[in-house]
Amino acid sequence: MAEQLIRNEQVAGSIPVTSSKKYTCKGMVIMAKKQFKSESKRLLDLMINSIYTNKEIFLRELISNCSDAIDKLCFISLTDDKVGLSREDFKINLTVDKDNRIIKIEDNGIGMDKEDLDKNLGTIASSGSYRFKQEIEKTDDVDIIGQFGVGFYSAFMVADKVEVYTKKYGADTGYIWTSSGADGYTIKEAEKERVGSVVTLHIKEDTETENYSEFLEQYKISELVKKYSDYIRYPIIMDMTHSKVKEGTEDSEKPEYESVTEAETLNSMVPIWQRQKKDVTDEEYEKFYRDKFMAFDKPAKIITTSVEGVVTYKALLFIPSKAPYDYYTKDYKKGLQLYSSGVLIMENCEELLPEHFRFVKGVVDSQDFSLNISREVLQHDHQLKTVAQTLEKKIKNELASLLKKDRDAYESFYAEFGRQLKYGVVSDYGMHKDKLKDLLMFYSSNSDKLTTLQEYVDRMPEEQKYIYFATGENVTAISKLPQTELVQSKGYEILYCTQDVDEFTLQSLMNYNEKQFKSVDSDDLGIEDTSSEDNTDSNDEVTKFVKEALGDKVSEVIASKKLVSHPVCMTAKGGISFEMEKYFASVQPDSGMKAQRCLELNMNHSAVKALQDLIGKDDEKAKKYAEILYNQSLLIAGLQIDDPSGYADLVCSLMD
Ligand code: ADP
Repeated sequence: MAEQLIRNEQVAGSIPVTSSKKYTCKGMVIMAKKQFKSESKRLLDLMINSIYTNKEIFLRELISNCSDAIDKLCFISLTDDKVGLSREDFKINLTVDKDNRIIKIEDNGIGMDKEDLDKNLGTIASSGSYRFKQEIEKTDDVDIIGQFGVGFYSAFMVADKVEVYTKKYGADTGYIWTSSGADGYTIKEAEKERVGSVVTLHIKEDTETENYSEFLEQYKISELVKKYSDYIRYPIIMDMTHSKVKEGTEDSEKPEYESVTEAETLNSMVPIWQRQKKDVTDEEYEKFYRDKFMAFDKPAKIITTSVEGVVTYKALLFIPSKAPYDYYTKDYKKGLQLYSSGVLIMENCEELLPEHFRFVKGVVDSQDFSLNISREVLQHDHQLKTVAQTLEKKIKNELASLLKKDRDAYESFYAEFGRQLKYGVVSDYGMHKDKLKDLLMFYSSNSDKLTTLQEYVDRMPEEQKYIYFATGENVTAISKLPQTELVQSKGYEILYCTQDVDEFTLQSLMNYNEKQFKSVDSDDLGIEDTSSEDNTDSNDEVTKFVKEALGDKVSEVIASKKLVSHPVCMTAKGGISFEMEKYFASVQPDSGMKAQRCLELNMNHSAVKALQDLIGKDDEKAKKYAEILYNQSLLIAGLQIDDPSGYADLVCSLMD
């Protein structure tokens, strides 16, 4: 009923723009044409001649003004019966008149009197517009328009004439403020029955480059309301024309269609994140997630949070279960949507998420951020940092709880985003490692399942000094590396580094629960090996001989302490492993980052003993043996051999 009333007034009492005579105006022009205050002029000029591409934000700005005006009157109505409206009566009406190129935005809020019009629409009233003006003066970059609440003047981006027909609560008469832009504005007294404002935009004619007419399409306006103003607390109503099957013809072979115009509420009003979690079903959350973020997966975790304190805000976050196709590319944009009391102020607020949680999607709504905040200001905003910090903690805790309570779900998540968490450990000089270390998982020699570092440490025998790790192409290849033999023979578990980032991650962590990470390639594995005899002199003779035979192909040849049944292995010295070498070769081919190759010989092995026996007796043959052992070590380590056919010939020559 109330809706109907407003709609009637809208028709009866709105300004018939085609004929100004119809104004029930008390005649006189109250003020001669006034000039805008000089500071406003520049902003206005900018809006009139705007080449900014997102001109569509004008609607968001005007609707927000309506909502603010309604807030004010609604507040008064709580204690003042004379307002005569209750909460449900407050509305915003949109009208699109395509033929006359007019859009009207009407509210039954507080309205404005003559002084208000002069003060609010004649100067840059709002702090947001003012800041915007200052900023634009510095940079002249129109692309920053959308980052500000540029306010009322943004109407001039799409309209060449704007009228505000308004009556303030408690006033006897109404006024019409009119402006065609830079040449100033007029204010006339005009009778108006109801309190509130009607903003009439005369939409510009299309140009070669600009299609203003699209704003005269119902679907476009409805789309813009959904996009920017979906959570305005008051209904935004517009007549929508649809074509429908005529009643009675539904079942006939040729159903007839008719066009039906119905008033529709375009906005959903109560944001899903403002509702109590218990009142929202998982399906509703999931639908919201998919619609809002164009996702296809079912979120691995839905996080809701409501914080009251230095900054008061609500957040609804989603941890995806599948990475978007562009996730690990430059095209992916991280960030949360930032709302200020239901009004979208930033589509992708990057500052709200740390890099290592860039996969999180969601919204943050806080009345503490004004609509007018600019990106530049936001970046240094203390309140924003506070929100970001609490969100980071929350996300971390939720992931930890997922890992604990639903291992399968966590593992699926980890398969997609584990790499991101590891990057997080490595980045910023390891600054975030303590936050992330308990979210990491690795394959290990323990089982074919992933393990956390805590689980590894819990399984460590008391005498085990280090957390061992080995790197390689894949789990199978690593498990067969000869250099893991000694560690494995002691029954110690080995973490398998299968991704290029794994080893960097462990290096950044350095230790976990005071246990140092140790590559199985290390000379000092912290294991007393009692089996090898101490034949230093004869060992020296062999290693020296082999080093000379191989020359620069290896940097070192040593008698191994870690081989048990294998004759040789190739280990990397100097902190760069073979996997790292491959990684650097792929990302920075010129970096010259090379692993130092160290050939380790098992002095107890019959093959090495055979080589030893030949030294001094048949050095040529001994050299061939050295060459074969070297190539074998490369093959086992998953490295390319220098001359495959030469190696094949060599083996054959010895078989003769
Ligand atoms: P902001 O909304 O950021 O303050 P605007 O330029 O959009 O800046 O608007 C300037 C002022 O004009 C508002 O602060 C408000 O006082 C007044 N105003 C604008 N639109 C309306 C409206 N529909 N009803 C009442 N007052 C309005």
